[in-house]
This record gives sequence, C-alpha cells and structure tokens, in this order.
Amino acid sequence: MAFINENFLKLPGSYLFSEIAKRVNSYKQQNPDSEVISLGIGDVTRPLAPVVIEALHQAVDEMSREETMRGYAPETGYSFLIEAIRKNDYASRGVDLDSDEIFISDGAKSDTGNIGDMLGIRNVVAVTDPVYPVYIDSNAMAGRAGCFRDGLWSDIIYLPCTPQNNFTPELPDKKVDIVYLCYPNNPTGTTLTKDQLKGWIDYALKNKVLLMFDAAYEAFISEEDVPHSIYEIEGAKQVAIEFRSFSKTAGFTGLRCGYTVVPKDLLAFDSYGKKYSLNHLWRRRQTTKFNGTAYIVQKAAAAIYSSEGKKQIKETIDYYMDNARIIKQNLEAIGMTVYGGINAPYIWAETPAGFSSWDFFDVLLDQTQIVTTPGVGFGKSGEGFIRLTAFGKRENTLEAVERIKSLKI
Ligand SMILES: *Cc1c(COP(=O)(O)O)cnc(C)c1O
Repeated sequence: MAFINENFLKLPGSYLFSEIAKRVNSYKQQNPDSEVISLGIGDVTRPLAPVVIEALHQAVDEMSREETMRGYAPETGYSFLIEAIRKNDYASRGVDLDSDEIFISDGAKSDTGNIGDMLGIRNVVAVTDPVYPVYIDSNAMAGRAGCFRDGLWSDIIYLPCTPQNNFTPELPDKKVDIVYLCYPNNPTGTTLTKDQLKGWIDYALKNKVLLMFDAAYEAFISEEDVPHSIYEIEGAKQVAIEFRSFSKTAGFTGLRCGYTVVPKDLLAFDSYGKKYSLNHLWRRRQTTKFNGTAYIVQKAAAAIYSSEGKKQIKETIDYYMDNARIIKQNLEAIGMTVYGGINAPYIWAETPAGFSSWDFFDVLLDQTQIVTTPGVGFGKSGEGFIRLTAFGKRENTLEAVERIKSLKI
C-alpha cells in the first residue's frame, strides 16, 4: 500500500485563478458578444527577440549533426551561459561570483519551490503578505506551514506590506529561520532601496537567518537606488540565495530557463550547531534530481547577453513598461490610488472605498470587460487591492484604460 504525503491534504484548492476563470467564463456566456481584455495573468505576450530565435535555430542545427549533437547537459549548466551571467549580471555591478556558485535551471518557480529540499522541517518560515504563492505552498507540502485556517497558515509568519508601511516589511518580532523576499515585488510592483535591503542583511547576519531573494523582475528596475542583486550589499553572500529567471527578462515563460546563486560563504546548521555549505547541498540535490536545462534553451539564454541581444530585450521591456506607465497614469487621472509600475510590470491599485478585491473585480468585469487579479488572492494584506499587469498588447492596454476611465461607481 502506498501512503500519501498528508501535507498535501492541508493545501487549499488553487482557488484564485480557477475562480477568476469561472467568473470570466460565466460572464462570457451571458454576454457572448463582449470583448473581454485580460490584464490579469502574469504572462508575457511579445515574441522572443530575434537573437534568441537565431540562437535556437543554430542550436537545433547542431543537434542534427553527429559532430555537434549534445546529449545530457551538465546538471548545473553549460559554462558558456554561466560565464555570461557571471560577467554581465554580476561582475558589471561589482559582484564577484565563482562559476560554481551559479546553478542554471528550468526556471525560478522550480528553484524557489525545490530549495526547501535541503532545509530542515523545523525551520520557521516568514513571507511578505501579499506574496507569490509558491513560497508558501512548497513549504506547506514539506510540512513547515502548519494548518490552514481562515486564510492563514498557523506556522508561517506573515509580514504585511501595505501603504501604511510603504510596502516595506517590518523585521520579524519572533524567532524566524528563513525569510522569502521578492523585489521588485510580485504582486505589488514595489521595491526596496539599498538601505532598506541592507537592514534585512544586517538582521539576517545578526540572527543567523537565511534570506531567499527572488529577483525575477530585476530587468524592470529603472530607479538608481534599487539594487539589482542582493549581493550588491555587503555581507549578503553569507545570508542569501538569489533566484533569477529569463521568463520575464527575455520572454522565456514557454522556453524555460532561470538560475539560482548559492554562494559558498552561505552556511546552515545541523541540530548540533555544526556548519554546512548550502552550495554543496544544493549541488547534491540538483545533480540527483535534475538533469540539466536543454542545450538549445541555454544557447538561447546566452544570446541575450550579446550587445544586440541586450538591445533587443530592452526594447521589449520598454514596451511593457510603457504599458505600465499608461495604466498607472490613467488610473491616477481618475483619482485612483495606485502603487508599482515603475520598477516592475505590475500595478497594485486600491479598490474604491467600500469595495473588496472581489467586488471591484466583478465591477470591472461587468462594466468594462476587463479582467484583473483580486489582491486578496495573494494574501490577507492584499484585500482592498487589485493587480493589473503591463504584459498585454499595447492596443489592448490603451483600450482597457479608456474603458476603465468611463467606469461609473
Ligand atoms: C514569474 C515569476 C517567476 C518566474 O518563474 P519561472 O519559473 O522562471 O517562469 C519567479 N518568481 C516570481 C515572483 C514570478 O512572478
């Protein structure tokens, strides 16, 4: 008889996106001629950059010839991609990493979800609220979250991020072992300055806390004072793992490539207090459970680091960030209070007084045929907000804001 991991039974249904789909489908059935525009889901819409397509074609041709075909990739990535990352994403910002501190993967969702494999079950985990759900659900599957009641996990420490604290989480006032931080943030679109992030590094060094830093939206940063990597701050190599992804940076959501940095200075402890290298444990985990990202995909990822590649992906990011500006300015023009949209492709908008996240979601769908994401779906502190994404087509974004401007509430 096979027994299940009963932690899975504690998980609530993935209610958010299925509930959105249900409401949208029912609206479409009742209004078959309506033109629904989605500013809801966080997926890209622009085609891949020409350099990426070219690299893919070339790599496919290599695979067709006996002399150049490739079998299993190195589990932690080809050196041509690791070197490009080291030089362009880190050395250029004054961060020196060794090649064996970078682990290429099939994306940041897998890595943020799998990273807990090498960490003990009794760690106390803190997350910002609202939050990217993967951090919580993966810890719940491992048995670190306790029980789910009234929208909260009993053993997770929630750090609210609201306008009252400028979306800056307070340092935990209880004992915590692991903290997940995502900056620029999904869903709020907000960031931490260098000084604010330094506060977290100092706290982590002092209290032996491990920081999981998700920098999936790093490429969207436009302001000077916002760190691109947590390792730009002194001491971070001793306390932080950093996750990056080509998904939003270069439209790889369908190709799948990302990477995780686990510095060799980063240590964690056994129950006797003896120190162990997390770099070593993560290598052991990846070489056992992962057989590498496809050669053609790694070639495609490396192509974005050429000067032409950098130019092309920047054009796409600028396109999305122009959408963000259009959404932000137009919502502000009708008196709405909005956050984000400057260093991230998300706009976090306050619902009008008296409207819950789902109330306002329904009003927007009924009156304007615009699909958004109710903020409460990302956590309790998201109540009273909706998230709009800038990943849409320009004409849809323009049409959407015109419709929202005509909203009568
Ligand atoms: C989109 C996103 C990712 C990227 O996930 P991939 O698996 O690399 O596509 C990671 N973290 C957050 C917060 C995201 O929104």
